[in-house]
Amino acid sequence: MQEKPYFCPNCRSNRVKFNVITSYSQSFLKDALSGSITEFHDPGVIPEPEPTIQCLICNFSGNEMRFIKQAEREPRVNTTPTSFL
Ligand SMILES: [Zn+2]
Repeated sequence: MQEKPYFCPNCRSNRVKFNVITSYSQSFLKDALSGSITEFHDPGVIPEPEPTIQCLICNFSGNEMRFIKQAEREPRVNTTPTSFL
């Protein structure tokens, strides 16, 4: 994951709360007759070129780049109050 700001392109209200969705692969052995699982191996993470990010506000999920691009298009405005107004 990149150290860049995210902004949800769907609800456009969330820059803070996200899930990262990771795919795991876990091999197992089955008994050919009964169908019962006889052996489980340790799960391994499937390496992905780009992580899938999910917005925790609206549950939209998409490539990390979509969230980064949206944050670049609409950067967070620095809301320092002006003392003259
Ligand atoms: Zn959202």
